[in-house]
Formats: sequence, C-alpha cells, structure tokens
Amino acid sequence: MSNQNIWVLFELSGGQPKRVCLEMMQKAKALAAQTSEQAVALIIDPAPEAAAAQAFANGADQVIILRQKFFFESGAYILEKLAEKYAPKVIMIGATTEGRDLAAAASIRMHAGIASECSDLIVAGTGIYWMRPSYDGKLNTNICIQDYPQIGTFKPGIFKAAEPEEGRSGQVTEETVDVPAGILLTQLLGFTPDDDLTKANIEDAQIIVAGGRGVGSAEGFGQLYELAAALGGSVGASRAAVDEGWISKDCQIGITGKTVAPKLYIGFGISGAVPHVNGIKGSDVIVAVNTDPNAPIFGVAHYGIVADLNVICPALTKKIREIKG
Ligand SMILES: Cc1cc2nc3c(=O)[nH]c(=O)nc-3n(C[C@H](O)[C@H](O)[C@H](O)COP(=O)(O)OP(=O)(O)OC[C@H]3O[C@@H](n4cnc5c(N)ncnc54)[C@H](O)[C@@H]3O)c2cc1C
Repeated sequence: MSNQNIWVLFELSGGQPKRVCLEMMQKAKALAAQTSEQAVALIIDPAPEAAAAQAFANGADQVIILRQKFFFESGAYILEKLAEKYAPKVIMIGATTEGRDLAAAASIRMHAGIASECSDLIVAGTGIYWMRPSYDGKLNTNICIQDYPQIGTFKPGIFKAAEPEEGRSGQVTEETVDVPAGILLTQLLGFTPDDDLTKANIEDAQIIVAGGRGVGSAEGFGQLYELAAALGGSVGASRAAVDEGWISKDCQIGITGKTVAPKLYIGFGISGAVPHVNGIKGSDVIVAVNTDPNAPIFGVAHYGIVADLNVICPALTKKIREIKG
C-alpha cells in the first residue's frame, strides 16, 4: 500500500482542541488539496465529539476517533498501529509538552523520520520539504525525509488559522487499539490549572505586551502587567529578561521560547535580535518602544517609538484606561 494523506494528531485540553491543532488542520487541508489526498484528524479522547466538529470546520475530510485517554506513551503506540493500518504520508503533531514527547516516541516506534519544531511544510511535486530554522533562526533548512510516514512538529502560531467553516462535516471512523500493559507508564491523578498571572498563556493571546532587558528589573515589569491588564492582553518577554530572572520562562518569546501570532504585539526595551523576531513574525501589528533609534526591532515594527519605556508604558496605560472609562 502506498502512503497517502496528511494526518494531524489532535491534543485536547478541557474537551477542546489546542489551537495549534486547528492551525495544523488548515495547513493539512491546503496540502491535501494540492495532491488530491485527504486531510485527516486523529482524535484520542473519551469525549471526542466537540473536537471532531472543530476538526471538520477547520478542514478535515476524515476524522479518526479513539475513545481512549491520551498519554504520550500510549499515543505513540496507537499512532504506530494506526499508521500500519492506514499508511499516512505525513503526521503533523503540535510541539506542545506532550506532543514533543509523543512525536519522538512515535518516530522511534515507527522507525519514521522526524523534523521537529518546523516553520513550514511544503509539498512540491512528489517532494515533501520540512522547513526549520537553523543557526539561531538566521537560516532556514529544508529537511527531506526519504521514507513514509514522515512526522513533523509545529509550535503554536506557525500557521495562522483563518475563520473556521462551521457546519462542515465528513467521514468519521471509530477505531480501538488495545494498549498492552507495560506501555502506559503514566496515570492522570488530577488537573490543577496554573492561575499565576505571570505565566499567562501567550500562545493564545490576541494582545501581547513584551519586555526585554531594557525593562531593567522584575519590578519594572509591573508597569507592563498594568498595560496588559488595561488592554486585556498577556505579558511576554525576551530571553534576556527571562535569563535575568525577571519573568518566568513560560513567557519567553522566540526561537527557544514560544512562537506568538497576536493581533497586537508591543515590545518594550527589546532590541530585536533574530532569535526573538523569529517568534513574533506572525503578529498582525508590531509596535516597538526603544531608546535606540538604530535598534533592529524597528526594522520589523509597523510602528516605532524612540523613547524611554518608563515614560511611554504608564502613559499608554493611562490613555487606554481613559478610553475604556
Ligand atoms: C541559541 C540561541 C537562542 C536564543 N533564543 C532566544 C529566544 O527564544 N528569544 C529571545 O528573545 N532571545 C533569544 N536569544 C537571545 C538573543 O540573541 C538576544 O540576546 C536577546 O533576544 C536580547 O534580548 P533583549 O532584546 O531583551 O536585550 P538587549 O539586546 O540587551 O536589548 C535591550 C534593548 O533595550 C533598549 N532599552 C534600554 N533601556 C531602555 C528604556 N529605558 N526604554 C526603551 N528601550 C530601552 C536598548 O536600546 C536595547 O535595544 C537566543 C540566543 C541564542 C544564541
């Protein structure tokens, strides 16, 4: 059987698919249309219905569901068994904490080539090219894997999702895979949400107020939290600010942090080094505030303010509060 179709592995949180899955689904749809193949969503969850509807709305032609709990060890085993049965060409997996583990484990189980944390996936003729950044994001490398299936992971925000097409539907296939004892080493005992404001989920934020070394201290970030709260956004940071210990690593944006694609990104005291800029390129509007008129961030910013952030940030917060009443 020759390998065909583009698969997207769905990861759910609170019954809903993670945003990265919907982004990958839309990409899979575009690629599958190019080669007249099918875009397939694989959903492993005891209650997969809501996610299946979203998979169709975001481009799935087919949905394979397994009413089982999702763990990375069993997920890799299930993927191996289903790949033997269906022979997909490509398997796209979110570069989340679980997704990364699962992709690596699945690639070993399946003896399948893997390209991790890709920045694009290109299908040209019979060739499949997994593009990923190298040399701190200064170069893009195209990886060609010789065999099938091929596995690749993508961080949230790499593909920008368009509006879903509600009401779309397609073929649903129910599968079961018995996972032998000994494969599953993890047991979920409970779920405790992290309410720490300083670890807000920047990957889903529509507005991001980011700070860099120019912010000067953890206390300096206080004014960024105030602005973010006024705007209804989240706070992100450059690696320099994270390395200084001013803000949690969860908030790091860039090639070794998170890729973000908000409607509005405002960078305060961030120089605009390539590894950081790689993580913000998908933003609709980039605003930079920096005292140095030659800072590279102004090369990618739509709006630039050459000024002290300690003046601009509180002034912006005051203005936004006035406007919002
Ligand atoms: C392998 C590798 C991976 C990396 N990954 C990442 C990554 O994921 N994310 C990331 O961000 N970096 C990453 N880096 C680090 C990156 O190269 C830069 O060192 C880092 O982004 C710089 O952070 P910064 O802009 O906050 O600091 P700086 O480059 O020091 O810039 C500080 C800026 O603040 C301005 N400033 C100072 N005071 C004020 C003020 N009062 N008001 C306004 N502006 C002011 C200055 O003019 C300056 O432009 C990586 C590096 C390597 C080698």
